[in-house]
Amino acid sequence: MTPLEIARLLEGRSNAEREAAVLRWLEARGVPVARHRVTLDGGRGENLAVDLGAGDRVLVLCAHHDAVPGSPGANDNAAAVGVLLHLLARAGGAIPPGLRVRCLFTACEELDYLGARAWVRDVGVAGLVGVLSLELVGIGDSLVVWDAVEESPFLARVRAALEGLGLRADAGYHVVGRIPRFGSDHRAFAAAGVPAYGLTLVPGASAEALRRFVFHPRRSALGFLLRRPAPFRTYHTPRDRSDTLEPAALAAAGRALDAIIAELGGRSGLPGPEGTAVSHRPPSGVS
Ligand SMILES: [Zn+2]
Repeated sequence: MTPLEIARLLEGRSNAEREAAVLRWLEARGVPVARHRVTLDGGRGENLAVDLGAGDRVLVLCAHHDAVPGSPGANDNAAAVGVLLHLLARAGGAIPPGLRVRCLFTACEELDYLGARAWVRDVGVAGLVGVLSLELVGIGDSLVVWDAVEESPFLARVRAALEGLGLRADAGYHVVGRIPRFGSDHRAFAAAGVPAYGLTLVPGASAEALRRFVFHPRRSALGFLLRRPAPFRTYHTPRDRSDTLEPAALAAAGRALDAIIAELGGRSGLPGPEGTAVSHRPPSGVS
């Protein structure tokens, strides 16, 4: 299945059905999954986690499976779930020794990222080298790493990985600071001191309009209500349907994640056996 086909399994469904679709997809492929019930501030649902590889250094990739009421939730955030499940299915032997990639499908992101906060509270952040929260990865051709408030070794690796794909700063990819008004799962990890960023795709052609939109929302509020730049035209609206998703955007997100994983492993200098078989396993510390 392509990321787009996987995203369609969640589109237009209730949050309980979306969560069940992710679990079903994993179980149908025999992937052991850790189920973490969210018990925080009345949150409902489960975080679902799968570890790829068995290293001590852990990269967390988040994709929330919930959506806001009234929206089919295709780009927000079934697209990210599709990209991550697709990565999980094809990662095979591609996880470098020494590294572990934790795919975390969170509940309740739309409730002030309650699911991620419960995860950090209950499971902790030991061993984490960095966190990326995939949000709105289905429309556009330019990557944005956001909430990058300060440089970190992890951010340097992310940049190097994207440069390695031939992308250039402020063109093929953008690194931006804290975005007011928006937020995502990575903030739960950032609050615990882990380098943690959002990862989004946008149309490069509207990068400047987007900058004004996210950094000066009040000044331009009226104009943007009338003509918001993509991907915000559909964000949290009934128009967030899978027919607006671009397979090329989903593929670009997948390529970026592959490059980041390779970069985190490849130049680590950590000793590790060649050709270690990659296993799927639930993270320890979760029942
Ligand atoms: Zn979202």
